[in-house]
Amino acid sequence: MKITDLRCAIIGGSPVVRVITDEGIVGLGQAETPKSYLKPHVLFYKQHIVGEDPTNVERVMLKIRRLGAFKPWGSAVSAIEMALWDIAGKAAGIPVYKLLGGKVRDQVRIYNGGVRFPMAGSSPQDYADDVAKMKARPEGFTIVKASVGWHSATPRNVPNFTYGEIMNGPAHINKGLLTERGLKHVIACAEAMKAVLGDEIGLALDCGPGWTVPDAKRLAKAVEPLNLMWLEDMVSGDYSPSTLADVYRDITMSTTTPIHTGEQVYLRHNFKELIEHQAVNIVGPDPADVGGIAELKWIAEYADLHGILMAPHGVFDGLIGLAALVHSAAVMPQNYIAFECPIGNPSWWYDIIEGLPIPTVKNGLIDVWDAPGLGVTINPDKAQKYLLEEDKGFFD
Ligand SMILES: [Mg+2]
Repeated sequence: MKITDLRCAIIGGSPVVRVITDEGIVGLGQAETPKSYLKPHVLFYKQHIVGEDPTNVERVMLKIRRLGAFKPWGSAVSAIEMALWDIAGKAAGIPVYKLLGGKVRDQVRIYNGGVRFPMAGSSPQDYADDVAKMKARPEGFTIVKASVGWHSATPRNVPNFTYGEIMNGPAHINKGLLTERGLKHVIACAEAMKAVLGDEIGLALDCGPGWTVPDAKRLAKAVEPLNLMWLEDMVSGDYSPSTLADVYRDITMSTTTPIHTGEQVYLRHNFKELIEHQAVNIVGPDPADVGGIAELKWIAEYADLHGILMAPHGVFDGLIGLAALVHSAAVMPQNYIAFECPIGNPSWWYDIIEGLPIPTVKNGLIDVWDAPGLGVTINPDKAQKYLLEEDKGFFD
């Protein structure tokens, strides 16, 4: 089998990849929904993969893996990797998880990700109301993550939150030392949420980046009685082009609250220091940014050897990305906690995608499905009307 074409279309704002072969088998991959600028980057790799046998996933990846980078520039490579596994599974007539070594679990745990509600404000009561809605959701979440501190509107909404100056601009540009009032405010929000969720639903906090080390230590220490699932991306993360492993280690060693990072990281190599130095307790690579499904599996195995847990990122990965997450999560060792569940956005994605279990999430879990490849396909007839004019030939 040979790859004959690589295509990318922006469907509902989300870059979708099709790898075409000479045997009629087509592979699907997807990048994060906000990355509508990615199409030329995906197509850049075409010259390197046409003519290759897509079922030799690793050999194809050796050609393009080095041509990516930290988020957002690892996503094109990652989406192609997903599509290669999809082809390999379809060619063998088995689900991708079997090609990765087989299932460790029949159901994979997820946490709220794409399920979000507009917040009325940033007060402890607003946070309590938000997680009350999460608790009532039909998905039956067993872990809920909320955005606090620098990862939220709090710095703008709470007067005297920081000693620094708040800049306007793209997300995650602000950081600075918190006032005592600012720190107490974040702690009060965590307490208010935990009071609603009780000990039946775990609470994780996406925190930054932007925390100074002293504030990060004080927050982690103060919330120790709440038994939080984790504090995420306090000092780097999201679109940071670094891991700051030594800084994370300083924070992690100071507290019993689990510390988490890794969503922005590209490739196993860039987890080496975080993992080997015990810099965090939990890592959260995203299969749509880290280099793909097998890359995520590799990191999970290496983390497990070092006593580090896995809670992969995935909020914007779309429904093909969801399939990649499910197959990855099915094969991880027992250091797996849960992944951040993407949704179909816009909701018409559920009309054009076939193969997902309906309802997809029950009791906070997704049943691992058995269709060949990733096991999800796009219905071209239903999707046609959502294609941009320049992408009309995407399914030809
Ligand atoms: Mg995050």
